[in-house]
Amino acid sequence: MTESPSLPASDWPELEPGWVWLCGAGPGDPGLLTLHALNALRQAEVVIYDALVDERILEWAPRAEKIYAGKRGGKPSSIQRDISLRLVDLARAGKRVLRLKGGDPFVFGRGGEEAQTLVQHCVPVRIIPGISAGIGGLAYAGIPVTHRDVNQSVTFITGHDQSGETPNTLDWASISRSSQVLVIYMGMKHIGQISGALLDAGRPSSEPVAVVSDATTPRQRVLETTLGALEADLAASGLAPPAIVCVGRSVLMRQVLDWQGMARGEAPRNLDPLGRGKPAESA
Ligand code: SAH
Repeated sequence: MTESPSLPASDWPELEPGWVWLCGAGPGDPGLLTLHALNALRQAEVVIYDALVDERILEWAPRAEKIYAGKRGGKPSSIQRDISLRLVDLARAGKRVLRLKGGDPFVFGRGGEEAQTLVQHCVPVRIIPGISAGIGGLAYAGIPVTHRDVNQSVTFITGHDQSGETPNTLDWASISRSSQVLVIYMGMKHIGQISGALLDAGRPSSEPVAVVSDATTPRQRVLETTLGALEADLAASGLAPPAIVCVGRSVLMRQVLDWQGMARGEAPRNLDPLGRGKPAESA
């Protein structure tokens, strides 16, 4: 029997006093943490975490002071500034600081702003990427964000900007034309507006859409619908944020790749959801 490989303790980076590590916690399931995140949790003296970080993850840092910096749904940027400055203060006080954010810190998570403030204040930082909800969350619903027979590009979109409104910088017409699959974060509040814009831009009302809420957690729920029925079906479903909306034919893959359903004993609904009529690997 071969020994399983292990990394010598000295090879893991030390979270030194006065540093801030800005770290992604993944979409929910603690098993989706990176090893660097785990290493950080074990060393941190202070963990500042946001609303989307699963509480079970904090249990990996039993000795650390935990500070909740939750803000949901586009609250004023002054709160964001307070969090950034608090990180600066803690670092200057010589703490080993872990800033833990849901998903990936640099994907619609304002991690770039926080890191920028830290650097501007001469605080040393390390960035630890995480699994973003728009990729890992969809995978837990059996939806591959790319599939050779569906899309050669994918577009990640935020459903609201700093003001809380649908970003008016988005060119829905060009997005609709150029990307077969759209993955929308923070889309629940303005779903009617978003689906209307996509339909106006020429996406068919029959286009498959999935909404995955609380992805990768035991509370995960998935709504499968179409672009035309999205607003009404979502309202009827009672699904609540946080949720990822996926627009495009990759949603059909769920019919054969809903691995969580299969683990519960459900049969795949359709072994050939894209209608290729041949085994997927034969091309
Ligand atoms: N940095 C995060 C995104 C933060 S923006 C990441 O990379 O995943 C917050 C949005 O992320 C939510 O409104 C929702 O659209 C999405 N999100 C985060 N966690 C989620 C989850 N567990 N299930 C579904 N959507 C999630």
